[in-house]
Amino acid sequence: MTYTTQVVVIGGGQAGLAAGYHLRRLGLDFVILDAQSAPGGAWQHAWDSLHLFSPAAYSSLPGRLMPSQSGETYPDAQHVVEYLTDYEKRYELPVERPVRVLGVHRDGGLLRVETDSGTWYARAAISATGTWWRPFLPAIPGHAAFEGRQLHTVEYRSPADFAGQRVIVVGGGNSGAQIAADLAHDTDLTWVTQRPPRFLADDIDGRALFDAATARRRALEEGRTDTGGVASLGDIVAVPPVREARDRGLLKASPMFSRLVPGGVEWVDGTRAEADTIIWCTGFRPALAHLAPLGLRGARGHIATEGTRAVGEPRLHLLGYGDWTGPASATLIGVGRTAREAAHQIARRLSA
Ligand code: FAD
Repeated sequence: MTYTTQVVVIGGGQAGLAAGYHLRRLGLDFVILDAQSAPGGAWQHAWDSLHLFSPAAYSSLPGRLMPSQSGETYPDAQHVVEYLTDYEKRYELPVERPVRVLGVHRDGGLLRVETDSGTWYARAAISATGTWWRPFLPAIPGHAAFEGRQLHTVEYRSPADFAGQRVIVVGGGNSGAQIAADLAHDTDLTWVTQRPPRFLADDIDGRALFDAATARRRALEEGRTDTGGVASLGDIVAVPPVREARDRGLLKASPMFSRLVPGGVEWVDGTRAEADTIIWCTGFRPALAHLAPLGLRGARGHIATEGTRAVGEPRLHLLGYGDWTGPASATLIGVGRTAREAAHQIARRLSA
């Protein structure tokens, strides 16, 4: 089947929905193509204990405040899924799922979006496919030698799966700290981080992070000194379970080991730790394979952007992924502003 529309939005997570909200307000004809079979993007796949690092009111998409969750200051992932499900219904966003975009191509004056369920022709596209779908594993010698189980953040669900085991959690970011805190009570845990963990002050949550990202954007726009933004504050938000495990002395980090051995890991001085399981909380990369036919990727794997617009293809905008597509674009509260910018630029271009 072949379809035509003005704008194709690729990805129906929070970033794609925020784009849809603004495209609808501008009266544009569009479709949102999402590979998942249900609403909620990556939040559907989060581990059981994951909670947001911001209160509900600071985790909202444009137009509709996230309701608070009864008994929880920081809502859990299921609450976010329910919010996104309600959001797309409320604004009658035209989401087609499951539809996986395989490639975006230039085709005369249009973009041709090839999917596993047909071809869409559009005058513009917004890519909002997130990062969860491209887990990153560092190249450490001995990966194949280790005889236990290895998994990435994306496969972790709950401590019950590892009760009584010797578990090594690798990673000093939020995922690593939260999963280590989750496992600290029921397993023999070793937490390994590349540099000593940097906890943010206990009173800093997503609200303060958003303010820091906004202040940085303003400073840069006004030609003032770079404030350093969120990264200057630390790496790990001290959400209640992390704080509790840290305060009980359960979150002591060891430095990074140098290789895996059949029974565990080994540090450069020859010290070893035995392990049944290694959980790699080592981050993600933007899921951009569908844009390969456009040949836009630069040296660091990113696509160069001016705001949200791809420098090498002005009909393409990118939302989410990381700060390179706009400050806090990969957060619930931050993506609204960049989605608005993308939708307005597309509307101007289409009417020119
Ligand atoms: P996603 O939620 O990943 O949605 C992208 C959608 O695109 C998915 O449905 C996917 O299936 C689809 N897709 C991918 N490829 C294709 C394709 N080729 N064709 C069609 N569809 C495709 N942010 C906060 O604001 N607060 C927090 O507390 C917070 N905590 C986080 C905790 C963790 C562990 C992680 C990883 C992130 C957290 N974030 C948080 C960051 C961010 O809000 C989430 O990563 C969020 O899921 C990003 O939304 P998104 O729409 O950009 O991507």
